[in-house]
Amino acid sequence: MSNSTSLLSAWIDAELARLEGQGLRRRLQTRASPQGTTIVLEGQELLSFGSNDYLGLAADPRIDAAACEAVKQYGWGSGASPLITGRSEAHQQLEEEIAEFEGTEAALVFSSGFAANAGTIAALVGPGDVVFADRKNHASLLDGCRLSRADVRVYPHNDAAALESLLKKSKEHRRRLIVTDTLFSMDGDFAPLKELADLAERHGAMLLADEAHATGVFGQQGRGLAEYFQVENKIPVRIGTLSKALGGLGGFVAGERRLIEWLVNRARTYIFSTAMPAAVAAAARAALRIVRTEPWRRQELLERAEKLRKELAAQGWNLGPGAEGSGFRVQDPESDIPHSQIIPLRVGAPEKATHLSAELRCRGLFLPAVRPPTVPEGESCLRISLTCAHTEAMIARLLEELFGLCKDYERSK
Ligand SMILES: *Cc1c(COP(=O)(O)O)cnc(C)c1O
Repeated sequence: MSNSTSLLSAWIDAELARLEGQGLRRRLQTRASPQGTTIVLEGQELLSFGSNDYLGLAADPRIDAAACEAVKQYGWGSGASPLITGRSEAHQQLEEEIAEFEGTEAALVFSSGFAANAGTIAALVGPGDVVFADRKNHASLLDGCRLSRADVRVYPHNDAAALESLLKKSKEHRRRLIVTDTLFSMDGDFAPLKELADLAERHGAMLLADEAHATGVFGQQGRGLAEYFQVENKIPVRIGTLSKALGGLGGFVAGERRLIEWLVNRARTYIFSTAMPAAVAAAARAALRIVRTEPWRRQELLERAEKLRKELAAQGWNLGPGAEGSGFRVQDPESDIPHSQIIPLRVGAPEKATHLSAELRCRGLFLPAVRPPTVPEGESCLRISLTCAHTEAMIARLLEELFGLCKDYERSK
């Protein structure tokens, strides 16, 4: 064994064993089918509730065709970072279409949502500045905060009052930035966007909203929760992904032209990274077209999610803060905002989540067990990600198997 190998094995083997013992070890799995509601994973055919392909577009033939056309026109690779020669007409057209869709002056496409978040935050604030972040923000937002070297103030999940008191205590800082997910990816609940926008305005802070899971799903036009809550013009930095409901890959920032110009000059994850292939941009254009012209996809998805939540609650599952009551703040109590397509079944301990996920898998269903550090200690869950491609029959099967599982679990106790 070489010396470098034993240096690694001295600690990695022990750490991995520790994760194993805590029920926290993660393992790679391989899919041998297109993404969708029925997948082949590790050789097993499964009814899957484990993708972010909310509008069922990841294997849409129209998008496949758009990507193939672009490969013929531009070749596969982009060959360089966007500021050198990597940015093609397909990228430019996509950016123009995103800006038009979002109703902003301009937009910029990054090669992932992670890169968009990390690069944008670090470009907006630095040493001497302060950034306020929800405790349950996505890892990419948190890493952007760390990367910026600004002071980071984490406020309790969706707690606007706590945020306000932190804002009042940060008068000495140069620039202030509030960052939040709009639809939280693990609990499926919403940020109080109106309250956050008001606070940002009152305290002279910039507001950055990450619509990763809401783009294409919420709002009349599918622009996300900022559209739904009618606060788009109060959120100067709007981020979305092309990787979830749009079924492809990439992230974008939409806003004023000066913001985009600044990012082109200062967002390191944009400047120092190869542009996405033109075909990926062309695929995103095709997906955006479908989002605009087929609103039934998001409408049906949210109707089914609402119904499924009710049925799961009736089975006795703990649906977390996305359920009625706690943490779920609706500005207008009269508005019956639909609950989201992300439905956590909170089970508490990571071992229990892993066990239930494995049981379901034996019965031909895939629901991921979500455990720390993705969620806080004690909040492990099975997560259901519903898509508009899930049929009534598939949902009925899910409910039936979950019901059987409850029964078995009770009996085994
Ligand atoms: C998935 C996700 C991202 C990252 O997007 P990718 O395009 O997958 O890199 C960013 N923010 C949130 C809230 C996410 O859930």
